[in-house]
This record gives sequence, structure tokens and C-alpha cells, in this order.
Amino acid sequence: MTPLASAESPLVRPHVADVRQRLEALRGDGLLREDLFVDGALRPATGDARLEVTDPATGAVIARVASASGDDVLAAVEAAERARRHWAARTATDRSNVLWRWHELILEHRHDLGVLLTAEQGKPLAAAEGEVAYSAAFIRWYAEEARRAYGEIVPSNKAGRRILVTHQPVGVVGAITPWNFPSLMIARKVAPAIAAGCAVVLKPASETPLSALALAELAARAGLPPGVLNVVHGDPVEVGAVLTGDERVRLITFTGSTEIGRLLMAQSARSVKRLTLELGGNAPFIVFDDADLDAALAGAIESKYRNAGQTCVCANRILVQGGVHDELVERYAEQAAAMRVGHGLEAGVAIGPLIDEAAVRKVERHLADAAAKGARVLGGGHRHELGGTFFEPTVLVGADPSMELAGAETFGPVAPFFRFEDEEEAVELANSTESGLAAYFFTRDLGRAFRVSEGLEFGVVGVNTGAISYEGAPFGGMKQSGLGREGSRHGLEEFLETKYVCIEGIGQ
Ligand code: NAP
Repeated sequence: MTPLASAESPLVRPHVADVRQRLEALRGDGLLREDLFVDGALRPATGDARLEVTDPATGAVIARVASASGDDVLAAVEAAERARRHWAARTATDRSNVLWRWHELILEHRHDLGVLLTAEQGKPLAAAEGEVAYSAAFIRWYAEEARRAYGEIVPSNKAGRRILVTHQPVGVVGAITPWNFPSLMIARKVAPAIAAGCAVVLKPASETPLSALALAELAARAGLPPGVLNVVHGDPVEVGAVLTGDERVRLITFTGSTEIGRLLMAQSARSVKRLTLELGGNAPFIVFDDADLDAALAGAIESKYRNAGQTCVCANRILVQGGVHDELVERYAEQAAAMRVGHGLEAGVAIGPLIDEAAVRKVERHLADAAAKGARVLGGGHRHELGGTFFEPTVLVGADPSMELAGAETFGPVAPFFRFEDEEEAVELANSTESGLAAYFFTRDLGRAFRVSEGLEFGVVGVNTGAISYEGAPFGGMKQSGLGREGSRHGLEEFLETKYVCIEGIGQ
């Protein structure tokens, strides 16, 4: 089927004017911005280049943001370098209060930020507002955690000697974030960084800079001093080269593809920067014969179709034991077929568009490869009648490890079912990937719950649940899914240096 540009589709076209009107109102409120945010103020880029931001549901251009040059990024690094000492010198309580106020402002503007997020990213408004609230929860968590960066006094090995261990902020942080969670991925990095006393230069994804600018605006209103958070969108290669090349940037925190993560790691090697990397996943979702099938079904649907399948923790491979395979597949296909696809601002929509045409082509490539190797489509399988980048929720049976979708994230609404016969085979199949981010399994056998969660080589494991997100838990991957953790007290540690102070000459 030749896709209609979705803005030409009579089913989607009315949203173009509606989105434009809503965004104009946000511009009036100061929440829609198009300039860079450097040293506490909006400023144009030094060059003329601009990035077009489109509504992925209609293809309509909704904003044109400034594109930072290398000099603009350098100015942001300089602003951060100037700001960081003052910010670090503020008391932890002070920093906590600013974060607390930022969290409150985000919640007050939850709906507006949700509209902005849906407009630039495409996810349903309820999910967008949920993401905004979850972002605020991270900021609240780190408002609390800011006051708990405790040190230690170590029992001494010598008379008259005192041994102190303290934590200090690492300094200037370069943060690079993806488009799939335009608000959350920023909050998870920026909140712990500034709680720790660091200053940040943030490069949001080119597809979704508007949420980043709105968050920065609210941070300024909350009293965050100039230079502590700077936002520079622009050519990723150029911005990345400045951030990784500048010696004043002491840490790179990145969320995105494993490929770009590797590149940033290599570029950061020259100045031996610290790195926090949240990279791609390839989550197995395992259902054993003894599982509560209703719960497994609900978990699989939720985990697969959230954000139209465009999350790093989406079930990418659904592995089902022989005894319940056919029943689960049949019930799953029925539910998937009933899910409503549409513009995220329409009530009742469960699945929005994919981010762009390249994302749709990747889904089609995975489907064609799977079909050629013997998989069967049970539902969906095509671009949606809405046109553009909408895709039908799709169910595949007969998937196997030789297929492309077994080795790489599909990042779309495709649920491939793999059949297995015993526990050992399931764990081996689950682990047979370079990724190690999230995994899920359903069982009512307590022994198996422990054995399998210990056997899975993944940083996050959901047992009898498909929803593992919580700001108080450490999130991150093993193997090639990354380095370090976000969330919880461990997320703060990423932005702290440990200093050992050995004091003598002050008496016994
Ligand atoms: P991506 O292509 O790696 O882009 C992520 C960010 O890196 C964007 O800001 C992008 O900028 C920037 N970037 C691209 N090339 C760069 C370069 N040469 N130097 C510096 N920065 C560069 O990933 P994506 O397609 O946006 O996001 C999807 C991926 O993120 C998936 O693999 C997903 O699994 C992963 N992800 C992981 C987590 C996690 O927590 N582990 C969470 C969410 C997503 P532009 O936008 O300007 O290109």
C-alpha cells in the first residue's frame, strides 16, 4: 500500500489546526520556545541554521528551533563551568529546595507539557502526561537525595590520623538524550546531576527539543541559577564532538542507541571522561506453563505497545512455553487487534504514530525478513490506513533466533512469539543477545522465580509484571546495554567523585 502523507488523510488532517492552536497558547505562556537556552537566557544560535520539529502524526512542521554551532556549545560549556562552583558551594538544602520547586512547577503544568510532548513525539496524551508526572517524580526523588550524599569516617590505622571520605560533584556534565521519552530521559539525568552540585549542558534529540526547552524554562522559574542547566540542540556530530572533546566536561551521560554510545565512549577516551550510558535493549518476555495467564497477557500487551513499541524496555521477543503457547497467542492477537491507533490528542487512542519514516521502514524490514524465514502474521502487519507513520499493532508466530528481529530491537508495534519447551532453553534463548537491559518472566513457582531471575543477564528483571518503572530503583543495563545506573541513590553516585582525606598533625 502506498502511504498517504498523514496530513493529507481526512482522518488526521483536522489535528493540524488543533495542534497549531494549542501550541500558540503555549507560546504565549512561555512554554514553547525555539532559541537555545544558555547561561539562564534564551539566545539565538550564531548561525542561521534551524531544525524543523514535526508532529509525527501529521507530518506538519510545528516549530523551527535554533541549531547550535560549535561556538554555541562552547559558550554553554563556559557558562556551565562558571556556574558549577557557585552551585556546588550552595548547601544541599538549598539545592534540594530548588529541585523541589521545579518538581512542583512541572506538576502544575503537567497538561501543557503533555500536549507539547504529544505534539513533538506522537504518544497518546495520557501517556505523555504520565511521562511528565514520572519526570517530576525523579526530580522530587533527587530533591530528597541531594541531602543524603553522606561521607564516612574510616577507623584509623595510625595514632593521630583521621580518615575522611567525602563526595564532591564531578563538575560539568554533557547530557545527550533520545526522542522516545523527551521529558523523562532529561529528568533522570539532570535531576541527579544538579542535586549532586554539577552543571549540565544538555543536547536533546533533534526530533523533540521542545520538551527540553520547556523544562529549562520551568527550572529557571524555580530559581535554578544561570548556567547550571543549558540546552543546545543542533547537529549531533558537531555538538557531540565539542562535548566529548572539551576537557572541562568531566562526564558524559547518554541515552540512545548502542552504536552512538560506543562512538561517544571512544571520543571520550582522550580526556578520560566518566560515562553513564543507557543504551539499546532487546527485552525477552517469558511466559512459563505455570504462569497466571491473565496477568501475563496484560503484562505483555502493556510492555509491547507502550509508546507504539518504541521503548528500550519494550518486550522485543515474547517467549512462551509449549503448554500455554497457542492459548496465549490467540488471546493476545484478539486484544492487539482491538487497540485504537490514532493521533495522540484523540481520546481513547492507545497507539500513536512511529517517530519517522525510517522507523516504519525498519519495522517493515524486520517483518519481511521474519516472513521469509517462516514466521506467520496473525494480525496487523501493514502500515495503518491513517497513513504517514502509523502502523498496525502486529502479531507474529513462529519466530526463531535466525530472524533479524531476534537480534535487534524492532522499535515498533510488532509482537513476535517464540515457542520453547523447558526452563533452560528459555533462559538460554533470552540471554542470546548482546543486550542486557530489561527482561520479564511470569511463573507461579517460587524456586523458578529465583533461579530464572538469577540466570538472566539483564540489569532489570520484572517477575510477574510488565511494568518495572520506579524512580527509587536503579535502572540500567548489563553487557552492551550500557554503564552505570539511573534512579535511586545509585543514580546520584554517578555524578559524585569520592575523595579520601587523610589528616595528621592535629593531635591524638
Ligand atoms: P540515537 O540515534 O543514538 O540518538 C540519541 C541521541 O544521540 C540524540 O540526541 C541524537 O541526536 C544523539 N546523537 C546521534 N548521533 C550522535 C553523535 N554522532 N554524537 C553525539 N550525539 C549523537 O538513538 P535514538 O534513535 O534517538 O533512540 C533510540 C535508542 O535509544 C534505542 O536504541 C533505545 O533502546 C535507546 N534507549 C535506551 C534507553 C535506556 O535507558 N537504556 C532509554 C531510551 C532509549 P539527534 O537527535 O540530533 O540525532
